[in-house]
Amino acid sequence: MWSAENAKKGGPFDAVKSRLLLFHPMNEIRVDRYFGKAVNLSLVLNLVKSAGPISRAEIATRSGLSAATVSNLSSELIDDGLVHETGVVETSRGRPPVTLSLNSKAKYVVGVKVMPGSLVAVVTDLDAQVVSYQESTELDEASFRNGKASAAVVVGNIASLVKSVITASGVDQADLLGVGLGLAGIVDSTTGTCRYSPFFGWRDVDLASPLASLLGLDVYLENDVNSLTIAEQWFGDGRGYDSFVVVTVGSGVGAGFVLNGQFYGGDGRGVGELGHITVMPSGPTCGCGKRGCLEVMASDAALVAAAKKAVQRGELTLLDESSEVTLETVVSAATAGDEPARRLLADSGRWLGVGLAMIVNLLNPELLIVAGEGVEAGSWRLGPMQEALEENRFDSLGSGTKLVVESAGDVTWARGAACVVLSEFFKSPLHRGRPAAVPAGAGRGVHGEELP
Ligand SMILES: [Zn+2]
Repeated sequence: MWSAENAKKGGPFDAVKSRLLLFHPMNEIRVDRYFGKAVNLSLVLNLVKSAGPISRAEIATRSGLSAATVSNLSSELIDDGLVHETGVVETSRGRPPVTLSLNSKAKYVVGVKVMPGSLVAVVTDLDAQVVSYQESTELDEASFRNGKASAAVVVGNIASLVKSVITASGVDQADLLGVGLGLAGIVDSTTGTCRYSPFFGWRDVDLASPLASLLGLDVYLENDVNSLTIAEQWFGDGRGYDSFVVVTVGSGVGAGFVLNGQFYGGDGRGVGELGHITVMPSGPTCGCGKRGCLEVMASDAALVAAAKKAVQRGELTLLDESSEVTLETVVSAATAGDEPARRLLADSGRWLGVGLAMIVNLLNPELLIVAGEGVEAGSWRLGPMQEALEENRFDSLGSGTKLVVESAGDVTWARGAACVVLSEFFKSPLHRGRPAAVPAGAGRGVHGEELP
């Protein structure tokens, strides 16, 4: 492993890099040869991951490290099993150099999408490829009392599912880097605490520590839209883009950001609450208590609530009071020619488009990805969304922004949670802005007792 501890064994160090690091503004970092080596190891590992198969000479050219340093560092990564020699590069003369590739089966991670009605868990390799998948629907209404779920019950259910999916994968616990949890709401990823979950009714609930204790694995907690954004950057439509924004529409509306090639997580304690930007100050009351939030105008929940009222007024010709009113049935009614159903979908789409225009006017990203179960509404909603985006963006801003619509299934969300762990593993020590994880074993006793 290339942890800070192991790095202290010593080894070569690039003098130029050390001088650069001395001037690094992150003055809390103790700049020494061991830290420098950890940075260089990370640099080589990431080059192998992103550009492999790659020769040692090419790594030296791209990184600016000396050939001797690259040779030593790659030997260390090969000894650790993270990198392997996979072939040769054709050259016009001389002995062809051996190429290096990431050994994606060297380590594994677990990702869990945590929802009130169900849990979905995956085990993935270092390339975020799913090797095992399971879901649990035990988290039913029985877990809730007075609109609030028992965190102890939820944590227990997550632990059972994670153990089960690991067993099914056949992966040795020693080869697991950790568990990532994706949860809707305001999440403090620095402490593994859920600050606010509208769906579970939680405030300031510590989830990562008790789960780490139960599993004996490091646990990372992240907002679900952020984890999906990291997944898009890793293996989705966001690959290769320097700036993109993911906007999700479902029971809520949220956003995640990649800016200048880096995932943007704010201060680590919540970001991207697009759904709670006020768009109509005198509008309906949102679940957050404020009025006229985008979410109360544009989410699936808002659409269904508006459709139910319209049904009560007898306005929807193809749905009556005996009908189940869901996004699906409203879309079916629209497809069958129900004009009021079409208007409801169009209104909701237009509000979404207003939200997208805000993003474009603020950030002008190269790519906008609209995802979530809400995109299943199709063109009745997405056509007006695009029109409103066009109408509300400022001048040339957004003219070069590519718009992609995709319906991210539960497995994609769970893979996103797995990618939270992977992104920490591959992150340069220079960019580790938050504690690596809530370590296994933290929070025994007192944290367990604090659960509501
Ligand atoms: Zn709100």
